Amino acid sequence: VNSDQVGRTGSSDLLASLQSIVGGANVFSHDGIEERYCTDVLRKHSSRPAYVVRPADTQQVSAVVKVAADAGVTITALGGRTGVVGGGISPDGGLILSLERMTRVLEVDAASMTMTVEAGVPLQIAQESADAHGFILPLDLGARGSATIGGNIATNAGGVRVLRWGMARDMVLGLEAVLADGTVVSSLSKSLKDNAGYHWKDLLVGSEGTLGIITRAVLRLRPRPSSTQTALLALRSFEPVPELLRKLEGRFAGQLSSFELMWNDLYEFSSGARLQVRPRPLPAGSPLYVLIETLGSDAVRDLELFQTGLEEAQESGLIEDAVIAQSERDRTHFWDIRDDLSELFRPLFPLAAFDISLSLADMPAFVERTRAGILHEFPDSQLFYYGHAGDGNLHLIASLDRNDPEAESKVDMTVYSCVRALGGSISAEHGIGTAKREFIGFTRTPQELRLMRSIKQALDPRNILNPGKVLPDLQ
Ligand SMILES: Cc1cc2nc3c(=O)[nH]c(=O)nc-3n(C[C@H](O)[C@H](O)[C@H](O)COP(=O)(O)OP(=O)(O)OC[C@H]3O[C@@H](n4cnc5c(N)ncnc54)[C@H](O)[C@@H]3O)c2cc1C
Repeated sequence: VNSDQVGRTGSSDLLASLQSIVGGANVFSHDGIEERYCTDVLRKHSSRPAYVVRPADTQQVSAVVKVAADAGVTITALGGRTGVVGGGISPDGGLILSLERMTRVLEVDAASMTMTVEAGVPLQIAQESADAHGFILPLDLGARGSATIGGNIATNAGGVRVLRWGMARDMVLGLEAVLADGTVVSSLSKSLKDNAGYHWKDLLVGSEGTLGIITRAVLRLRPRPSSTQTALLALRSFEPVPELLRKLEGRFAGQLSSFELMWNDLYEFSSGARLQVRPRPLPAGSPLYVLIETLGSDAVRDLELFQTGLEEAQESGLIEDAVIAQSERDRTHFWDIRDDLSELFRPLFPLAAFDISLSLADMPAFVERTRAGILHEFPDSQLFYYGHAGDGNLHLIASLDRNDPEAESKVDMTVYSCVRALGGSISAEHGIGTAKREFIGFTRTPQELRLMRSIKQALDPRNILNPGKVLPDLQ
């Protein structure tokens, strides 16, 4: 589909149809489209969609998809616009289908420990709703205030508690979606077990809006933990990390929920930026820091276990120093150093952001090789390594040379070549979008890519849903 061409074809008819489906106030077109629908959060990707449509429910989503597909106009679903790989950017002349009016928590069902939500509900609202009913929705990430459940599912989001509770996929029990021809498929199951045929819902999880538009979901909840223990650890090197993780997982009896690594550059930069508010919890200068958290149900016993585990780790030389959060204020401070980074990185724009995964044992080689490779070419680049390393996920932020238009692709090549050599994945959790599609072959074999194309072809033969994302040759 040539979106430029279809964007103009029959545009007044399409506009009238869209207005009749969702009401005139919920359709914007051409110059009436606000900038926020055209640019992504990193301000790297932008385009000129021809329409923005804000349906109120699944039936309206279905009707919008039908008329847009009939007119040959591409459709890009949009949630909280926090995606960082350009996945929510429409082709020029396409239609943005924003889920921003579909924000209801429809039910919290205590008996099945599930919640049913509309796809546009922000993650934080879903979390708060679960909390108000005595549950935890364990999915959690820095963009929780804006990111939506639909976006989380479409990107199979990870975050800071994957180690214990898994990715978004592991929390989705039921799903409702609208397919490329407007068909509504619905399986709002509340059951953990369901082996009746192919799991189409698992195809949609992580499909970045290319196979269907998620409209509702049933999410698995857990009883709300009543005790939280948080500590920041300093390490002399990376070497003890795998053993430390193994020991703490065993010692904390299944309660370890977060294990976040920060190399000194990130710790020094982020804690340093907060010095006017609070002193550093631990001095800067150690090669590595780990933020750990356990969530349990017996405050006294959990704290005892936590302290003993850390003392043992220190005695056996696995950690150099440790500080335990004594209050919620301490905890927030520790987490801010790791989590609250968007504004801190802003002065470094333009930057390249990576979200790779590889085995824990290969992380030092990745850090060493990419640091050497990038600094060799760009000696002034600032580099920050950190990540949800407990589950093999590393982030790298590299500031780019403003005077070199090729800088980003050179840095991309250095990083993704290293990932390929180490047998890792170019995307741990953010997805492929447009930003990484040229590199998908570094992680997926030609056979896997052929299979992906056949799936796309079967579900969306006209390439109407979010074209240009994930697969490099389907633009
Ligand atoms: C500060 C910050 C921290 C972050 N931390 C993490 C992290 O720890 N872990 C992590 O995984 N990600 C993280 N992200 C990335 C981002 O928050 C996630 O990818 C999030 O899941 C995107 O949700 P969204 O609603 O903003 O989606 P959007 O950005 O609106 O869209 C993302 C993709 O999903 C598609 N999509 C959106 N809604 C739907 C729908 N209803 N149906 C079908 N497709 C849809 C879009 O077309 C697009 O391809 C972070 C981002 C920021 C800015």
